[in-house]
Amino acid sequence: MSEPLVIVGNGMAAARLVDELAKVALGRYAIAVVGDEPRLAYNRVLLSSVLAGETASHDIELRPASWWRDRGVTLKYGCVATEIDVGRRELKIANEESLVFSKLVLATGSSPLRLNVPGAELAGVHTFRDTRDVDLLLTLAAQKKRVVVVGGGLLGLEAAYGLARAGAPVTLLHLMDRLMERQLDSPAAALLKSLVERKGITVLLGANTARIHGERCVEGIELADGRLIEADAVIFAAGIRPNVALAKEAGIPVNRGIVVDDVLQTGVPGIFALGECAEHRGICYGLVEPAYEQARVLARHLAGRGGDYAGSVVATNLKVSGVSVFSAGDFIGAERSESIVLSDVRHGTYKKLVIADGRLTGAVLVGDTGDALWYLELIRKREPIAAIRRDMMFGRALAITTKAA
Ligand SMILES: Cc1cc2nc3c(=O)[nH]c(=O)nc-3n(C[C@H](O)[C@H](O)[C@H](O)COP(=O)(O)OP(=O)(O)OC[C@H]3O[C@@H](n4cnc5c(N)ncnc54)[C@H](O)[C@@H]3O)c2cc1C
Repeated sequence: MSEPLVIVGNGMAAARLVDELAKVALGRYAIAVVGDEPRLAYNRVLLSSVLAGETASHDIELRPASWWRDRGVTLKYGCVATEIDVGRRELKIANEESLVFSKLVLATGSSPLRLNVPGAELAGVHTFRDTRDVDLLLTLAAQKKRVVVVGGGLLGLEAAYGLARAGAPVTLLHLMDRLMERQLDSPAAALLKSLVERKGITVLLGANTARIHGERCVEGIELADGRLIEADAVIFAAGIRPNVALAKEAGIPVNRGIVVDDVLQTGVPGIFALGECAEHRGICYGLVEPAYEQARVLARHLAGRGGDYAGSVVATNLKVSGVSVFSAGDFIGAERSESIVLSDVRHGTYKKLVIADGRLTGAVLVGDTGDALWYLELIRKREPIAAIRRDMMFGRALAITTKAA
């Protein structure tokens, strides 16, 4: 008889885990997925495209209902898991029966952070995480509301771009002195800023939100330096927090995320966690690729095929506000490293390659990211680059030809 395996969360990590399990352990588990969003799992990354009007909301579903059915998965969406009874190996679901499990996987993702400033509770303050948020933001844009987006990382930029494309006047506030400081060095961030401003978005750096003004609804935002920005709505995109409450209340060890070992097992045998809610070797990843790598390892472990997760080399390869951006590895350049830089601000292109000990250790690309995956492979494989060093800045095609000659 199949063992009951319950997955909490019907997001990207959960969908990939079911996919991987179907490949390596078909029939071994009777899988049930419990997700609180009221629809089939979708590609959350594409929410930005939906907001920008580039993709239809119904086109972002990861798999059709028939795919789940064909794999024998019991899907419970629109259902909140409220409690894990570790002793009885039971998961309680709001207004529903409990599910008994032999193995449990937590894939509960993250929630957006709301800044703890006066006015944060006013009507008109929103976040950007799911399809319901997108519907709300699109309504704001259709009404031409003045929107302030707080946070100049990936999410804030995506929200600002989508809202601006949908017709809202947008101001983007960022606390730091450059956009996407965790992915970009200063010249790359400055170029990105100017490209974003060309799309009609006002960008304010060093902008520390002090309070949100308004009686019942948002009327404006005040910065710590006294600047006032009139606004009808505020979108917080200033970070995420892993959803750990369910695990914590069950006595499963949590830190920032749910702590897992190299097979993604939590401190309780038979209970696993992956994706944004998990913390592995002190790291909570906020990107899809690590979640997919974890899903592969966990599926193999659950199939009894072994294999460990040793962490992910994080790379960012995306379109930010319509601008292609790639960043991986040591993009700043540690001591004793060398950098090769090509910068053409007028044409919106910036490339920086960081080299240490004869190997590529980091890269930042803005504008032209055509060779991003090749650079990422060089970084991951730690291959010596002496033979291609002179030409590698100009892309794979030239570097490979020169090497062969
Ligand atoms: C707008 C946007 C753009 C993004 N762009 C990129 C990008 O370009 N590149 C990239 O790598 N990453 C991007 N990300 C991040 C990426 O979407 C996440 O890393 C990925 O979705 C994580 O997958 P997950 O399954 O861990 O979490 P999620 O996809 O968030 O899934 C978790 C699910 O669990 C549900 N859940 C939580 N608690 C419970 C409970 N108690 N009971 C039932 N269900 C529960 C949640 O509602 C959610 O549906 C973006 C995120 C957003 C919001």
